Amino acid sequence: MNVHWSKERQVAIDAVRAAARVCTDVQGHLIDAQTIEKKDRSPVTVADFASQAVVCGILGAALPHDAIIGEEQADVLRQDGQDAVRLAVVEHAGAGLNRTDLMETEVLDLIDRGAKSEAHGSRYWTLDPIDGTKGFLRQEQYAVALALLEDNEVVLGVLGCPNLSLGGMPEGALMVAVKGQGTKLMPLGGLGQDRTVAVSSLGGPSEARFCESVESAHSSHGTAAQIAEILGITRQPIRMDSQAKYASVAHGDSQIYMRLPTRADYRECIWDHAAGALVVVEAGGCVTDIRGRSLDFSKGRRLESNEGVVASNGSLHEAVIDAIGQTIDS
Ligand code: AMP
Ligand code: MG
Repeated sequence: MNVHWSKERQVAIDAVRAAARVCTDVQGHLIDAQTIEKKDRSPVTVADFASQAVVCGILGAALPHDAIIGEEQADVLRQDGQDAVRLAVVEHAGAGLNRTDLMETEVLDLIDRGAKSEAHGSRYWTLDPIDGTKGFLRQEQYAVALALLEDNEVVLGVLGCPNLSLGGMPEGALMVAVKGQGTKLMPLGGLGQDRTVAVSSLGGPSEARFCESVESAHSSHGTAAQIAEILGITRQPIRMDSQAKYASVAHGDSQIYMRLPTRADYRECIWDHAAGALVVVEAGGCVTDIRGRSLDFSKGRRLESNEGVVASNGSLHEAVIDAIGQTIDS
């Protein structure tokens, strides 16, 4: 048996499960005062910070030399006027790490452990503590997304999706992919059998279902509809926030995920795609940018040499890339 990355895999599963529990707990009691608007005007909640602290705490204890590139940083929490949010973050991070003695400075440092690293080097982790914060706020889909990169390649990807139900499993899906070892679906809560998942094969694109973002600012719904028409797709798109879209393709519930740029200068963040991309590839699918180029994780915190993303079951990939080319170049 291939035992490569077995320790990392278990630590990542433990970290994502603990962080997802914190997110579920916060979601059950969410109030507006627990949300801050970041400089780019995107929302960030108590759960984003607490989730990052929990993952950094668990990873840091087990693998202290590994760098972590996380989405959040603690600066905004240190500001005057954020005392209530800061207190709530400390409380939830303590619960997630099973530490009643956790000090405020320690929590802020844990969050910053994921903020200060450079996305370069032979090995590092990337974390989106809550991918799809808007979905989280709407009580819809979101994911805790954690991936390990070695030599600029994703070798381990874990997605914790608390509100996603796949294959009749009770709500709460954990997708775990290891390079060369396939993708497994596990109950996020821990009780129940693991299953190996595979993408679904279809006769042709007209039978396919595709997923896209709920947010039309993140992916052009209009362009996707034109592409779907070229492909002869008649079924309605599945709109979901977060990397739950990758989980849907990997599990065979849909066959295509299109992320079509709404701005020429936008470059995707590595933590929005690393874990999800491996989950699809290891389930037998294919992931590229909209031009059919491989995702290049060697450029730092963003996918600087890529435009948008397409994930598919593999057999439909070329047809999708062709249809995108016909649409955006016309
Ligand atoms: P989704 O839930 O798939 O819509 O993706 C959520 C992610 O979209 C967030 O984590 C952001 O990093 C990212 N995002 C923010 N602005 C844009 C944009 N203009 N285009 C694509 N993705 C974006
Ligand atoms: Mg995200």
